[in-house]
Formats: sequence, C-alpha cells, structure tokens
Amino acid sequence: MQLVSRKEMATHVINKPSDFKVCEGCGRVVRQEFSICPTCHAYRFLTNEESVVERAIQLASQEQRSKTLGNFDFD
Ligand SMILES: [Zn+2]
Repeated sequence: MQLVSRKEMATHVINKPSDFKVCEGCGRVVRQEFSICPTCHAYRFLTNEESVVERAIQLASQEQRSKTLGNFDFD
C-alpha cells in the first residue's frame, strides 16, 4: 500500500472523480471497483462527480483538525 497524505489523495480524487464514489453509510471515498464499502459494508454510493469532489475537499480539510486516523480515509 502506498503511503500518501490525504491531501495528495484528495487531489488525485478531484482530478479523476469518475474513478471514485462516496459511501452513503460512512462517507468514505472509495474506488469505483468496490461494490460494497470496505469499512461499513453499505452498498449505496453517491456516484456523481460533484459529490465525490465535494467530499474529497471536505476530507482534505478535516486532516488539519484531526490528529488521528479516524473515520475519514480513502480506500
Ligand atoms: Zn461505508
């Protein structure tokens, strides 16, 4: 597994939102190839690019406030 910062990951997501989707259960940004969320096992996702970009920006900004690797991560 590559170690990248959330900001780098967010940039990657924002540049190619069609490769990702947002879990409706936990809000994680996951790759399109997952059919269920690897974290909460939800199977409903927001797939529109606007939602994905918005979420990625949120997650990147939360990094500064939270010191722990909490709920917010990218898979
Ligand atoms: Zn989830």
